[in-house]
Amino acid sequence: MRDIVHYISGKAEAGGGSRYGDVFDPNTGKVQARVRLGGAAEVAKAVEIAKAAQVGWGATNPQRRARVLFEFKRLIEANMDELARMLSAEHGKVIADSKGDIQRGLEVIEFACGIPHLIKGEYTVGAGPGIDVYSMRVPLGVVAGITPFNFPGMIPMWMFGVALACGNAFILKPSERDPSVPVRLAELLKEAGLPDGVLNVVQGDKEAVDAILDHPDIKAVSFVGSSDIAHYVYQRGVAAGKRVQAMGGAKNHGIVLPDADLDQTVADLVGAAYGSAGERCMALPVVVPVGEKTAETLRSKLVTAIAGLRVGVSTDTDAHYGPVVNAAHKSKVENYIDIGVKEGAELVVDGRGFKLQGHEDGFFVGPTLFDHVKPEMKTYQEEIFGPVLQIVRAETFEQALDLPSKHQYGNGVAIFTRNGEAAREFAAKVEVGMVGINVPIPVPLAYHTFGGWKRSAFGDTNQHGPEGVRFYTKIKTVTQRWPAGGTALADSSFVIPTMK
Ligand code: NAD
Repeated sequence: MRDIVHYISGKAEAGGGSRYGDVFDPNTGKVQARVRLGGAAEVAKAVEIAKAAQVGWGATNPQRRARVLFEFKRLIEANMDELARMLSAEHGKVIADSKGDIQRGLEVIEFACGIPHLIKGEYTVGAGPGIDVYSMRVPLGVVAGITPFNFPGMIPMWMFGVALACGNAFILKPSERDPSVPVRLAELLKEAGLPDGVLNVVQGDKEAVDAILDHPDIKAVSFVGSSDIAHYVYQRGVAAGKRVQAMGGAKNHGIVLPDADLDQTVADLVGAAYGSAGERCMALPVVVPVGEKTAETLRSKLVTAIAGLRVGVSTDTDAHYGPVVNAAHKSKVENYIDIGVKEGAELVVDGRGFKLQGHEDGFFVGPTLFDHVKPEMKTYQEEIFGPVLQIVRAETFEQALDLPSKHQYGNGVAIFTRNGEAAREFAAKVEVGMVGINVPIPVPLAYHTFGGWKRSAFGDTNQHGPEGVRFYTKIKTVTQRWPAGGTALADSSFVIPTMK
């Protein structure tokens, strides 16, 4: 059995303890590897090494730091096929989607290559007689990232791309369900010239997370995962005096107005609802058609489109989506479908009990469609995170606007319409952090910033973009006075200096 271990100080590190987690092949349902589950000892070792390595890295000029990232980008591109295969083999998403996962992370690396410009401070010449004021952004020191299973390439790069560019050292605690790609990325960074110890990967579960949250030398923690854990991480990290950003779960709605191009909308909806087996925080698991006629036409077109979906193993290049990540998650998704039926929603297409020929033990769930889902139902209120699309019918634009606005999650939302005025009003009023107008998955590009509202994100700062640079740096402001020609300074002043 293959063991996946930590990566500390530029090399594989077995660590101590005897705890392991199973890493499955979701296509077959079999265990394919074991991952070491580290704890306080491994975190302490990684932090000690990171602290020492950060001194030199933080003092390296930003252009040189950017050059490492430029080379890292080249290496990722050169190794894209291998990385995508590795990612699909543990996650279960199809290869083309794994390439998208890596590509979206790579785009953050491209953004971070602009660090010499991004990290520039501000300068005021002549703020007073002989007085200048300037500010600089300095790294925090050692920072950490804790990532979910569903984007093992992109989300680590969201975090360490910007953090390293800013001159920090980084401890990454990836998901224990698909831990190989993060280690491979760390190896490629070393190959790109990153000094040993600047990026360390500690494998693990709650124990490693708690050790990160409690370690006094970790100055900031970025977390992405489910909301209850995001909230826990936020509270415990902040209580320990850290800067914390913690992104949580989602339940994104697609609002369909009567004037929408329904063929295009359905094409967009099936991709956004069933792509990656629905295991995306920016998936669209709820569709809200406005008006009876829109609902009926949309439903019938959805049923036809779903019949054409191909579920296959992650290496099947014709498959639209693959298995979910593990057996526990498959049961959770199927259990939600059971609950939906009990709650009285109409099960139009049932994906339970789906078996792929030759892969009967794989973690596959067929595409599922519910209609007449009501806002008071548990299956509407909670995140399912599987290939399940729910139709919630609305009679008016206002009702449709209310649904995502009042939902506990506020990650993403999309509106499909040809009416610019309605779209504009919707974007202005909806209580959600990321909005798509005729765009089903409005994940902002790397130079913008990613983050939801309400229980989809805790903390004040979003991921990547200029907000990322703010998160991973602190500001120092210098006020300097050089009186001209050595003129004598005024007497002591006992009042606060002003510019009066
Ligand atoms: P998860 O919350 O189970 O795990 C996330 C991380 O937390 C992992 O590294 C895991 O090891 C750790 N963890 C798990 N249990 C813990 C505990 N009790 N205490 C401390 N740490 C713990 O999430 P997941 O299943 O890996 O990922 C899916 C979830 O992530 C979904 O809810 C999805 O919406 C969310 N997500 C959100 C975003 C976003 O940006 N908002 C992006 C991707 C995924």
